Amino acid sequence: MIVTIDGPAGAGKSTVARKLAQRLGFHFLDTGAMYRAVAYGALRAGVDLSDAAALIRIAETVRVDLQPGRVRLSGDDVTNQIRSAAVTSAVHHAADQVDVRQRLVDLQRALAEDADIVTEGRDQGTVVFPQADCKLYLSASPHERARRRQREMEQRGEGVDLEQLVQQLSERDQRDASRPVGRLQQASDATFVETDGLSSDEVVDRLEAIVRACRRGGHRPE
Ligand code: C5P
Repeated sequence: MIVTIDGPAGAGKSTVARKLAQRLGFHFLDTGAMYRAVAYGALRAGVDLSDAAALIRIAETVRVDLQPGRVRLSGDDVTNQIRSAAVTSAVHHAADQVDVRQRLVDLQRALAEDADIVTEGRDQGTVVFPQADCKLYLSASPHERARRRQREMEQRGEGVDLEQLVQQLSERDQRDASRPVGRLQQASDATFVETDGLSSDEVVDRLEAIVRACRRGGHRPE
């Protein structure tokens, strides 16, 4: 069974997708981590990020392995590095390239083959798995999303101004929604879940109920 979770940055997708996968006994695929790993690979190799051909070469030559809670790039553990501010502001270079996307989409489909999987990103229900059994779209208000990001960063010992985060998230939303391929968009058959004011466990409870209804073949998006 394939469960897709799409939505904007800071909607809390990764946390709830991981927990949902655990509850269901499914694999979890964090596709944002793949784009981040390619961007980090490019930064590490010192390539000019505006050089599309160089970026595509990086995407084609690196090996991205997602293990539970860890991300490896050609064998090196880059779990923490890919969450850095430098990677967050560079990742759109990788995500905007059609050939980079195609390579990662192929990898995502290969990982989902014959597997029960919860996959999370921007284009999972629209482009990568249009035939998914259950599609979810998560969002929250800009301030709630910024506050969540701020908490995550504080836990990593990084301080950041809330208004600055609201601004950064709005810029990322715009980029994510306007790229020609794989843009952030709710699939017409996805269920929209607003997560404002809900704890991650409460969100997971809702998602689990929707997935169980999909499994029984009874769920229709509202
Ligand atoms: O979800 P996360 O913030 O880790 O994603 C990093 C970036 O990768 C996003 O800003 C988005 O531009 C891109 N992305 C994407 N398609 C996906 C997942 C992430 O373009 N399926």
